[in-house]
Amino acid sequence: MGLRTNFHMRLLKAVTDMQAWSRKLRTENRGIGFVPTMGALHEGHLSLVRRSKDENDFTVVSIFVNPTQFGPNEDFKQYPRDLEGDLNKLSSHKIDAVFVPDSREMYPEGFSTSVHVGKLGEILCGSSRPGHFNGVATVVAKLFNIVMPDRAYFGQKDFQQTAVIRKLARDMNFGTDIIICPTVREADGLAMSSRNSYLNRDERKAAAVLYKALKHGEALIKSQGTSDASVIKNEMEQMLNSEPLATVDYVEIVDVGNPGEVKDIKTPLAICLAVKIGNTRLIDNVIVNY
Ligand code: AMP
Repeated sequence: MGLRTNFHMRLLKAVTDMQAWSRKLRTENRGIGFVPTMGALHEGHLSLVRRSKDENDFTVVSIFVNPTQFGPNEDFKQYPRDLEGDLNKLSSHKIDAVFVPDSREMYPEGFSTSVHVGKLGEILCGSSRPGHFNGVATVVAKLFNIVMPDRAYFGQKDFQQTAVIRKLARDMNFGTDIIICPTVREADGLAMSSRNSYLNRDERKAAAVLYKALKHGEALIKSQGTSDASVIKNEMEQMLNSEPLATVDYVEIVDVGNPGEVKDIKTPLAICLAVKIGNTRLIDNVIVNY
């Protein structure tokens, strides 16, 4: 079995070790909660970890910067990595096991099968990140087969990812409950993200405009009863464009239950956006319930 670290947290690197441990727990009827991450852990990740600990006998966190979800010109190489810091945070949360495979363990030579999520992977972030959600779905499907969790925890911050994962679990009959947790934010509203570390001081200040624009969109719907999605999108884009360091990738208003179809403003909605601040692409969303 895997190494045991000195803080009594199991560090597993091999797929077979992770599977053996999960299989043993399942035969003992222990509930397993699972939090998949790409590391560089912050309070957003830790909120998922705490929720999993509350709801399960055992919690497994994975740390894996998944190469197949990065495009050729994206930030796979620069993506922040801090395994030691991550393990310290997880150990102080008394996590039972951390699964840290390397790329060859997840994608050994000859690996060729992948999950295609269809249209849902092509809208919103999918149009500027082709193949991204197929990479996400493929790695999550593998991780579910390796960890065999009863429940898996994902952040609302990545709205489209939550829709993709819910669909993956349903379409492929994974017996795992998908639990979505609220977005954890900085004091000025910026959603916590490992990529926020790319921002310099001016950019970090400018990045607050994302949440400001989302709150403006929400207010237009909720307090002013605006029901024309294009009016809301235009006003939000104007606000974002008034920030010189911001370049809008998209602002979209979608049906929470069916993000592929942009509908009239009636049902629970997600206002989603992707904005570049300098060279850093950030995403965020708010859910508006009527
Ligand atoms: P990542 O390491 O960025 O792939 O994120 C791992 C998980 O943490 C995903 O389910 C994310 O949606 C979630 N997450 C990331 N940032 C936040 C945040 N600010 N609040 C809540 N969950 C988050």
